[in-house]
Amino acid sequence: MHHPTRFLIYGFTIVILMMIALAFIAFHSTSGSNREVNLQVAHQLEKINLINELSSIIHDRTRFMQSMLLHDENFNEDDSWTNFNRLRGAYIETHDRLVPMLAPREREIMGAIDRLDRDISDLNRQVSVLFLNGSRDEASKVLLQEVLPKTAPLLSHLAELTQAQRMDVQKALLVASSDAEKSRTQIAIFSIIAVIVSVTVTFIAIWYGRKLSGQLQEMNNYLEQKIHERTESLLDTQKELLEDNNELARMALTDSLTGLSNRTHMNQILRQEYARFERHDQRFGIIMLDIDHFKNVNDSFGHDAGDKVLKKLAQIIASAIRTSDFVARWGGEEFLICCTTIEETDLLPIAETIRKLVASSDFEKVKQITTSLGCAAIVKGESISDLIKRSDIALYEAKNNGRNQSIVSEFTDISLP
Ligand code: GH3
Ligand code: MG
Ligand code: MG
Repeated sequence: MHHPTRFLIYGFTIVILMMIALAFIAFHSTSGSNREVNLQVAHQLEKINLINELSSIIHDRTRFMQSMLLHDENFNEDDSWTNFNRLRGAYIETHDRLVPMLAPREREIMGAIDRLDRDISDLNRQVSVLFLNGSRDEASKVLLQEVLPKTAPLLSHLAELTQAQRMDVQKALLVASSDAEKSRTQIAIFSIIAVIVSVTVTFIAIWYGRKLSGQLQEMNNYLEQKIHERTESLLDTQKELLEDNNELARMALTDSLTGLSNRTHMNQILRQEYARFERHDQRFGIIMLDIDHFKNVNDSFGHDAGDKVLKKLAQIIASAIRTSDFVARWGGEEFLICCTTIEETDLLPIAETIRKLVASSDFEKVKQITTSLGCAAIVKGESISDLIKRSDIALYEAKNNGRNQSIVSEFTDISLP
């Protein structure tokens, strides 16, 4: 995979390699040319030394000849041949070392020097023989007229050779400086290329980075969109599930025929009210309502008509009770009303209101129905089932008393602990 950082790493590796090459070339070219120049200069210096040595040998020989002729205190006749031979040997030795180092043109000059030197040596030998034989004037004559005129050109040839060496040294230095100039140019060119490469690499990396981050952004947006869609659909499903659950819960607590609370729900309500009564001493009561001779209704008008009666009765009771009270279909044609925050004496008026309302209502085909109601208000120490039992007993009493009436269970009916 291509990545801007990779570009940068590759690019800058190239730049670093170029820099190393640059340093190497610079070092190599300068050190190489320096070494060459040094070698050449050393070579020339050695040549100059040898030429100078030759000059001083020739000089010594001339002085030796002069001192011989003048016969000064330095001159020792016995040593003369030895000295003469020593100088000759020194000349030959220096000459042999110098010749292989000379250039062709210099060898020509050296040839001229050699010829002159041979002549001078021969003449010197002649002068020495004359001198040792006592012909001192003759020896001086040869020395002045023949040896000395040859010595001058010989020395000037040697000077010419020395001059040539100086010129060579200058030439080498010139070459070295032009080499240095060349390597400076090379370094400059390499530096410019390195800068161009690094700038290009940086630009490519930035461009590629932007492109990549754009793609990433697009991908991000796409994923975010997908996640959003998924979340939405999940939330929808959850909402539906919750609604279904609520509906189920509602259905579980509702009577399907009348739409009132069912017995299960009423039991919950009773438990709540019972807890409130225990905690806050808020009394509650119940009214058990049962349709009189309902069997006859079914028998006379049919089951459906009976159902319609049940539905209508449910509406009548629901509309008659206080908003703080509850009603449920307790079973078959029995209804249970829970009256909150009451005293025992409040129950009968409520029951009677309902009873009268039902009795005066029109039940279509069935026309009229009556109901019997048994009431009971909770007392300390009593259980819910005992309370229900008491209302049942009161209802039974109402039935026995001729129906279409409400009876309140007296709290003396139960034995308190
Ligand atoms: P009483 O005055 O003693 O209460 O007489 P009753 O006939 O009302 O009492 P009984 O217990 O003998 O009969 C109750 C009848 O209620 C029997 C049953 O057919 C009827 N019933 C119970 N539930 C329903 C219902 O959901 N629909 C219909 N149509 N009738 C029902
Ligand atoms: Mg009944
Ligand atoms: Mg009945």
